[in-house]
Amino acid sequence: MGTVDTMNEADGTQVAARRWRRLFDLAISRERRRRLRLVQWLIASVVYGGIALLLVAGVSQGWMQVSALRAWVGFVATVQTISYVALRTGWSERLRDPSLSIWQLAMGVIALNWGYVICGPMRTSALFPLMVIFAFGAFALRWRQIAFLTALAVASLIAAVALRITHPGWLTAETSVDPLRVDINNVLMILVVLPALAVIAARLLSLRQKLRDQRAALAAALEQVERLAVSDELTGLPNRRSMQALLERSIALSNRGVTPFCVAILDIDHFKSVNDDLGHAAGDDVLRNVACLGREQLRDTDVLGRWGGEEFLLVMPGAPDAASAALERIREAVARGAHPTRRVTLSAGIATHRPGGDADALLARADRALYRAKHGGRDQVALDSD
Ligand code: GH3
Ligand code: MG
Ligand code: MG
Repeated sequence: MGTVDTMNEADGTQVAARRWRRLFDLAISRERRRRLRLVQWLIASVVYGGIALLLVAGVSQGWMQVSALRAWVGFVATVQTISYVALRTGWSERLRDPSLSIWQLAMGVIALNWGYVICGPMRTSALFPLMVIFAFGAFALRWRQIAFLTALAVASLIAAVALRITHPGWLTAETSVDPLRVDINNVLMILVVLPALAVIAARLLSLRQKLRDQRAALAAALEQVERLAVSDELTGLPNRRSMQALLERSIALSNRGVTPFCVAILDIDHFKSVNDDLGHAAGDDVLRNVACLGREQLRDTDVLGRWGGEEFLLVMPGAPDAASAALERIREAVARGAHPTRRVTLSAGIATHRPGGDADALLARADRALYRAKHGGRDQVALDSD
């Protein structure tokens, strides 16, 4: 029995929680932007509520008049009601400032300075919430609006002081003020203000986090773009453009007498029939395997790139016999392992760079050697004979 009771109780609590949540959703809307605006409105209302409670305490201390409190509450309630209706119905979304930020903050400045006039010995603390107003303003306003709000705050404070002097009849005499009560009032007002500032700080923190995430995503995207610009997507090898740049660099170095080098063009034999028989995806796998097997057989200083289609370009510092040996190793490795069931072979033509020659001439000689390898029966490496 006891267990059933506990369960019913738990169910009841859940139902109540769900009902409250639905009511809350209804009050501040589910639509993301509208909800954010109404949460800000709610924070303002809580701060106003805290100030109103302190003013009630002020009335009970005999520090201020109840009629002054009533008028102040009436003003704030009117402002908040108008703001709520405009925000909740979406009417404010027709305006340039759909959050009604400048309107709400300006009304806040006026409410605080009004409070300053009427609240007697509590007036210093009546200005604390100005900090909340300007902290919100820092998020929502353009600098012109902040300048306007600053001017409004200063002007209305001066007006408030002037009113206190010229209309002392509105006020209650401050003859017997217990300084300890003023201190307590200050502490209570800080307790109203600080949570609102904490909410703003949390908002700032989440914005900073978002900024950090966006920056990381941007850096990752940039890195990918850079990688794609120089490498071939299918095989991960350097692409034709970066091989061309490498070729030009190697030629310039070699022409200055730094390092001799050779190039080789590798071409998969009868690749068209690999595609035709096994499908394009299997053809892609073969290309990836050839790239991988090729790289395994090379030193760090040798660069294998995808030249186009089923052709690869190798740029190797050193003499052609070393290149020839490396290409033999690649040829064997490919014949053994480019495809699990079908023997796939490649042919290659090597040419050595001649001092003073250019890239086109060098590639033409490598191509000629490749042609000889193909005509010699494929699955072989040929050296440019000149
Ligand atoms: P050969 O021995 O004379 O080189 O004959 P081959 O069939 O290898 O040469 P051919 O130039 O006739 O055909 C090359 C084929 O490579 C045609 C094309 O569809 C295929 N190919 C080019 N790029 C890709 C690719 O990225 N993926 C796949 N799967 N196939 C490709
Ligand atoms: Mg080809
Ligand atoms: Mg081919």
